Amino acid sequence: MDDDRVPQSRRARKHAVNEGVRRLLDTPGWNPYLRAAPGLDPAARAREALRQVLVERAEDAAKACPDCAAARHGSGDPSDLCPKHLAEAMGL
Ligand SMILES: [Zn+2]
Repeated sequence: MDDDRVPQSRRARKHAVNEGVRRLLDTPGWNPYLRAAPGLDPAARAREALRQVLVERAEDAAKACPDCAAARHGSGDPSDLCPKHLAEAMGL
């Protein structure tokens, strides 16, 4: 990525931006790439996979649930769930 034709000032600016991004990614709880990071610890990955399964299962059940339909109608949010299925989606 080192191009000598790029003026020094632009390279310096780009470096400053990269520095800022790197600092931001070091901020705990902020990194948006963390979920996809292969370095994520196995327990966290397992939790994430389990959560995904729970959400999918709850959404499947919600399709045939009149309470979920009522909740969606009431809030106008097409992904809304009734309290029972919401609890299921959260693994409660
Ligand atoms: Zn429901």
